[in-house]
Amino acid sequence: MKHVLTIAGSDTCGGAGIQADLKTFSAHGTYGMSVITAVTVQNTQGVFGCQDISPEIIRGQIDAIYSDIKVSGVKIGMVSQIETIHAIADKLEEHHATNIVVDPVMISKSGFDLMQPDAKDTLIRRLIPLAYVVTPNLPEAEVITGMKINDLSSMEEAARKIFAMGAKNVLIKGGHLEDDATDLLFDGEKIITLHSDRIATKNTHGTGCTLSSAIAANLAKGKSVEEAVCIAKAYITVAIEHSLSIGKGVGPTNHFY
Ligand code: PLP
Repeated sequence: MKHVLTIAGSDTCGGAGIQADLKTFSAHGTYGMSVITAVTVQNTQGVFGCQDISPEIIRGQIDAIYSDIKVSGVKIGMVSQIETIHAIADKLEEHHATNIVVDPVMISKSGFDLMQPDAKDTLIRRLIPLAYVVTPNLPEAEVITGMKINDLSSMEEAARKIFAMGAKNVLIKGGHLEDDATDLLFDGEKIITLHSDRIATKNTHGTGCTLSSAIAANLAKGKSVEEAVCIAKAYITVAIEHSLSIGKGVGPTNHFY
């Protein structure tokens, strides 16, 4: 069984963040491990607070894993502060980590800043060059590139710009497009578009976390980037179709359907 690591924030209600990642790793038959970067206070109605874990403890968690266990894939999610990003990048470089999927999480669907806006440049400078795959949604790709993105041709232009920042593969997620949720993958040579019909549900909490951790799990299992992204997209599509109405607000996707 392959071992896969998530470096991300905790979501109290289990639909996003570390908890979603670990469920996704299990659903793919991989062994999940976690480095927690922040603890959020949240439920299906929103995020109400956040405590960042110190850079020293983040570095310690990463050393604890890499000094003992072989890691075949890594997903990086919520990194709220500049110092958090440096701690992660320094340690992943030191341990020669591979198959790194960076989900550049910025703002929750409920509008909470999961990354402090002043950390953007550090994310671009330190994490994007480490990414084997980077998975921004449209608003995140707009922040990273500084351009307006609202159709497939602007998604392609943005993917090329983010590729030039050092990511080996760029997946721009089209969930925020007006019509269907078409994603676009650029591997430095070719553009692949992945189409799916829009699913009528409000329960989409944690979709980005789940997709990126599914990609990391599939890379760890030896799939090519194209295969990993296609399998992950199929997984998240069915997980949204079977999403769960827990709580009063936006429910989570169903990791085991
Ligand atoms: N909480 C944590 C810890 C996250 O990492 C994320 C997304 O990456 C979210 C919440 C946001 O969840 P959503 O915007 O899908 O509701």
